[in-house]
This record gives sequence, C-alpha cells and structure tokens, in this order.
Amino acid sequence: MATGSMSQAGQEKYWSDADTRYSAIDCKRCEDQRDYLLQYSPIIRYMSDNIKRLGGDLNKSNIRCRTCKTGQLGGFDHKYGIMLCANYIDKRSMLEDVLAHEMVHAYDHLRFKTSLTADEDLKKVACAEIRASNLSEIRSSTFRGIIKTV
Ligand SMILES: [Zn+2]
Repeated sequence: MATGSMSQAGQEKYWSDADTRYSAIDCKRCEDQRDYLLQYSPIIRYMSDNIKRLGGDLNKSNIRCRTCKTGQLGGFDHKYGIMLCANYIDKRSMLEDVLAHEMVHAYDHLRFKTSLTADEDLKKVACAEIRASNLSEIRSSTFRGIIKTV
C-alpha cells in the first residue's frame, strides 16, 4: 500500500481487516469520548436537555459505538437510537459534530414526527439532512467559540 502498488480490492481487504482487528479499541475510544461529551460538551448537553423536554432520553444505552462497513460516520433510527461509527471517527471534536448532527435528527423526530426511513419522500429526507448539518455545524462552531455571535 505504501508503494501505491496495491490493488483496489487489496486496499479494501486491508482496511476491512484493520477495522475488524481494531474494533474493540475503536469502540472503547468512542464510548469514552461519548461519555465525556454527554457529561461536558455544551452542545451535546444542550441537545440532550431539549430532547428530554420532548420526552426522549438519549444516553449510554441508546447511543452505541459500532464498527461500520458502509463508510458512514453515524446514523439515527427512532427505534434503535444513535449509532456512531467508531472506525471512522478518531477525534473527539469529530464525534461531537456527528453526535450533535444525529441528535438534531432525534429532536426533529420527537418534535416534528420526521422519518428518515427508505420509503420516506426524498425531499423530506434531504431537508432533514440539510437542517441537521446546518444546525450541528453552526452550533458546534458557536459553542467552541469559532464563530463569534453578536
Ligand atoms: Zn443526517
């Protein structure tokens, strides 16, 4: 791989094997970061508090760290909760962004009864993704002091 001579299939096999080999380490790091953010991150606590006000409860039992095969960073399912892809997220700031994004989906599901299932209207799914991306990115930046609000 370092010489650039490995085939595409070989590279995919290498990374798949690495994901399997490091799964326990990746998931432990993800869970430690998740627990820290649930306790200390202003945006995650803000989202968590607002989700609780709507009757929801996102916590260690339904925010799960997993090794993903799809290349995604995370996901929200109203029955399952939030999935964080431990093998694609290494930094806590990245996990904070992904978790905040998925929490916007959870909030929207509770508040506006949105759905992200495959049989949902694609325009509604696109709107939900744009809203979650905008809110989580703007909020994260604001809470970290990157964007100064007046
Ligand atoms: Zn999303």
